[in-house]
Amino acid sequence: MKVTVIGTGYVGLVSGTCLAEVGNDVLCLDVDAKKIAILQGGGIPIYEPGLEDMVKRNVAAGRLHFTTDIEAAVHHGAIQFIAVGTPPDEDGSADLQYVVAAARNIGKHMTEYKLVVDKSTVPVGTADKVRAALQEELDGRASKLKFSVASNPEFLKEGAAVEDFMRPDRIVIGTDNEDATQMMRNLYAPFQRNRERLISMDIRSAELTKYAANAMLATRISFMNELANLAEKLGADIENVRHGIGSDPRIGYHFLYPGCGYGGSCFPKDVQALRRTAGEYGAPMHVIDAVEVANDAQKHVLLDKIIARFGNDLHGKTFAVWGLAFKPNTDDMREAPSRVLMEGLWERGAKVVAHDPAATHETHRIYGDHPQLQLVDTPMAALQGADALAIVTEWKVFRSPDFCAVKAALKTPLIFDGRNLYDPASMREAGFEYLAIGRQ
Ligand code: NAD
Repeated sequence: MKVTVIGTGYVGLVSGTCLAEVGNDVLCLDVDAKKIAILQGGGIPIYEPGLEDMVKRNVAAGRLHFTTDIEAAVHHGAIQFIAVGTPPDEDGSADLQYVVAAARNIGKHMTEYKLVVDKSTVPVGTADKVRAALQEELDGRASKLKFSVASNPEFLKEGAAVEDFMRPDRIVIGTDNEDATQMMRNLYAPFQRNRERLISMDIRSAELTKYAANAMLATRISFMNELANLAEKLGADIENVRHGIGSDPRIGYHFLYPGCGYGGSCFPKDVQALRRTAGEYGAPMHVIDAVEVANDAQKHVLLDKIIARFGNDLHGKTFAVWGLAFKPNTDDMREAPSRVLMEGLWERGAKVVAHDPAATHETHRIYGDHPQLQLVDTPMAALQGADALAIVTEWKVFRSPDFCAVKAALKTPLIFDGRNLYDPASMREAGFEYLAIGRQ
């Protein structure tokens, strides 16, 4: 099939590449000329395990192309995926300007039937807006051309995006006609050979499904974080509690890890957007309101522990930070808890020496040559002479360090662990003061 993917970010690039991998002829469009130049030059603009090889393979096979030429992109695919960003507006609602612009471009340039598929995360009712924008452009040129609009929310996780797309748990398709459903079934057939994974529904339900999924996951995290804070005060260990409840199949272990807050490009903005939609439609979601409030507080938990230990004036102190990306296996720093921690430390006069296996470049892009930040190439290099270590992202490489070397490098053998990577008793035995989340 000929497929166009509009927007070549985390979702668009992964989707386009995986669709090419199974034999489709895919053209990826982006308005960011720099991104397209990198891709055309054989590089990839993001860090995502397994993606670079797959991009190279499909480009070499002539199934995957990149362009900034809107007209060519619209002509290319019978299916046009919209995978542009939907960042939060000032009021928390999803900013649909990029989605609408993409729809307008399709309307402006299409000369035959198109199935326009919204893959971006968009509020319920957006398909109507896409349809209206497209129709307006078509009317402008007195066209009788036909099109369909479908919703196909994306559930991939950054860091495991290729695997998630190639072996999805489910593929949600929202359509309003059988032809569109059939086209999507055909497109996704190679991704569900062992069992049916496609869940077909109406468009509004599909749009809401994406928000429901992210809000549910964010709720589990915030619930565990608040429970962890309580456990700490009660003299209980949240990790024992986690095992105790996760073993119940009605609860399960996924997304029960307490920590220093969730970040990323999806949970914070999708929770906000869902709250906004709920308010707009007069159906307040008190649970979701609390999820966001709890997470905002949790992002300060490491800073609060550091202040409780060292006081509010941190001039002359240096903190080693392990992990900057909002989660492991990505370079994405959007809404990352590390940013709240570092900015709080800087505000109080402290210096930060940080290491992240993938997000150094992105950190530098955000903070430039910040005078209180030094980025280093190895975890150990971050520790030399630091007053304490703060662990913010649970990269595998941080799980089993040489604790003797860690102790020798730090000025004080003190670790603030925002991801509960180590056993408190062993840490005490090894001579560390170890402050984790929800543990004694
Ligand atoms: P991103 O910011 O990485 O990429 C978006 C891309 O769209 C950018 O490269 C931008 O230049 C491009 N763009 C903007 N307007 C355009 C236009 N008119 N024409 C062509 N290109 C245009 O965003 P992302 O992380 O890939 O997310 C895209 C959407 O998918 C969002 O709605 C997001 O909520 C959703 N989503 C993201 C993830 C994730 O893990 N990142 C997972 C599921 C869903």
